[in-house]
Amino acid sequence: MTLKHAALADATLSPLWLDDPAAPATEPHLIGRRQADLLIVGGGFTGLWAAIIAKQRDPSREVVVIEAGKVAHGASGRPGGIVSTSVMHGLSNAERVFPDDMEMLERLGIENLDAWRATIEEFGIDADLEWGGEMTVAARPEDIEGLRHEQDLHRRHGHDAVWLDRDQVRAEVASPMFHAGIWSRDRTGTVHPAKLAWGLKAAAKSLGVAIHEHTPMERVEDLGSSLRITTHDGSVTAPRVLFATNAWAAGHPKIRSYVVTMRDRVIATEPLTEEQLSRIGWRNRQGIYDTRTQLNYMRLTRDNRIVYGGRIGYYYGDRTDPAGDRRIEVYDRLAGYFLQTFPQLDDLRFTHAWSGPIDMTTRLAVHFQPYYGGKGVYAGGYSGFGVTASRFGARMALEMLDDTGVPELQLGLARSLPRTIPREPLRWPGASITIRALDEVDSKGGWRRAWIRLIHAMGFPL
Ligand SMILES: Cc1cc2nc3c(=O)[nH]c(=O)nc-3n(C[C@H](O)[C@H](O)[C@H](O)COP(=O)(O)OP(=O)(O)OC[C@H]3O[C@@H](n4cnc5c(N)ncnc54)[C@H](O)[C@@H]3O)c2cc1C
Repeated sequence: MTLKHAALADATLSPLWLDDPAAPATEPHLIGRRQADLLIVGGGFTGLWAAIIAKQRDPSREVVVIEAGKVAHGASGRPGGIVSTSVMHGLSNAERVFPDDMEMLERLGIENLDAWRATIEEFGIDADLEWGGEMTVAARPEDIEGLRHEQDLHRRHGHDAVWLDRDQVRAEVASPMFHAGIWSRDRTGTVHPAKLAWGLKAAAKSLGVAIHEHTPMERVEDLGSSLRITTHDGSVTAPRVLFATNAWAAGHPKIRSYVVTMRDRVIATEPLTEEQLSRIGWRNRQGIYDTRTQLNYMRLTRDNRIVYGGRIGYYYGDRTDPAGDRRIEVYDRLAGYFLQTFPQLDDLRFTHAWSGPIDMTTRLAVHFQPYYGGKGVYAGGYSGFGVTASRFGARMALEMLDDTGVPELQLGLARSLPRTIPREPLRWPGASITIRALDEVDSKGGWRRAWIRLIHAMGFPL
């Protein structure tokens, strides 16, 4: 297959964020048997935050993290890195799923974000944080009404969310695709996700957490008062285990009934020159989401590259590292979306292209699956919105494991599960038709709209 967009031709097929000499050394893999008070399986944001919070609460607690690969090599080293306050994938989704709990969920989101920031500052983590805000833009005139509703929700919940009409949004960021926007300016912005994960890893180690990389969990045994997790060369026995394995449904076969492993694709440009930047403006450096059906997001990096993402895919059997995504052609359509958004940047080249696992659920936000009589909890399902919400997911999972009885454990979010999703062999054809519909609905309409309406009715808000 030939590339339509030559600007992609030299791109490296790996995440920009991980292509950094500051990447820390690997931790030794686990050899032999050990005990712990708390074992965390998975060294992404959820696992690292859980380790830090557990140690901050009780420094004497023995906390061990095992990670199949390296810290940040899962979703946490791959996202757009847009920082949001919501723990529910945005206010509209919170209203859709838990309308009666919105006020509390919003308060928890604000508390979470403030604690997220405070910990980053406390440990002096340099993660290129920028607080330029978060902007949602209407990519079609017919999306403006929905955006007005979103702004109303923001206002009702006390957010500093400014409405931008067509000229105002284009004065912020010059794109012929933008017809209106909401610019939410509180507690939102962008972060370098891998630097954050590496900083959290260092923070956890400084608190005494033992981290073992290249140590995949292979088996779980219920010993009655504890669980034994067996790895290739050892095992950990612990009374409490957090499965922070995101789209890898490790830990229990049932996890898959609620979580689909999607892929989400991202491309990054070379650094823009001052002259190239002047063609688009973007002086306030917001993280941006658009309302296209294949939702696109974009942000600037500290060295003024544009990171542009958002074209989902699915591989049979919920593959988490599909060879199919290590072909540059897969990113061609995304490069096309980029050029529709910024046609004035047709002289830019892309340096990196990558994809990452999305733990998609019908809730589109974190949920918790207790197993083994409550000794183990799976926390995941952020559905592509977990850069900050993962800290909340980690804390809530600890509240459950430690049975602390905090009031938020009474919320529907903690007490209920999302809807189940058909498994293979139905999952692949369902996902494939949906992705085809998503790819083409904006340009071709037709049966694709009816299909997407059906998927909505089944509880998937695409
Ligand atoms: C392309 C992309 C773009 C995104 N953009 C944004 C964004 O802009 N804003 C936002 O808020 N969110 C975004 N997200 C979502 C966000 O990155 C995730 O929600 C978050 O990183 C999830 O963290 P996690 O720790 O739960 O999962 P992960 O970081 O995936 O960590 C799970 C870890 O578990 C390990 N593991 C799996 N199986 C085993 C096993 N058997 N034994 C041991 N370890 C195991 C994996 O190796 C992995 O490291 C994006 C995600 C992707 C993929």
